[in-house]
Amino acid sequence: MKKKTEFLEETFHCAKCRGEKAVINKLTLSRSSFSSLLPINSGKYIFVSCALCGFTEIYNLAAYEKQEETKTKKLNQIQEA
Ligand SMILES: [Zn+2]
Repeated sequence: MKKKTEFLEETFHCAKCRGEKAVINKLTLSRSSFSSLLPINSGKYIFVSCALCGFTEIYNLAAYEKQEETKTKKLNQIQEA
């Protein structure tokens, strides 16, 4: 099974320059480090930056993993039916 970050890297398409090369950074943010800069909660995040222009998408890892979990569950249900 592929890592989630690899999947993000492979499917990346920059919204700004349409570049396909991504730089992935996984960060755990504490309340103090980032909340004063960005309107996001503390927790785990994946930063996907375009290697060409630097445009960055931020994924909330908790939400992302939950979404993947739901997908997997649905798939299992289909296979069982
Ligand atoms: Zn770009």
